[in-house]
Amino acid sequence: MPSYDYECETCGESFTLKKTFEEHDHLKELKCPKCGSAKVRQLIAPVFAKTSKKS
Ligand SMILES: [Zn+2]
Repeated sequence: MPSYDYECETCGESFTLKKTFEEHDHLKELKCPKCGSAKVRQLIAPVFAKTSKKS
């Protein structure tokens, strides 16, 4: 189960949520667990996929 990091723009709280349903619903339900604000933005996790294929 993939998890995503988010940051509250109101209080600066960062938290992680697991994606367990459709993304649209996920965003709709997204609230800061600390202050309850819906102004939350997703932190794009740095993914360094090693796809160095020798061609
Ligand atoms: Zn907050």
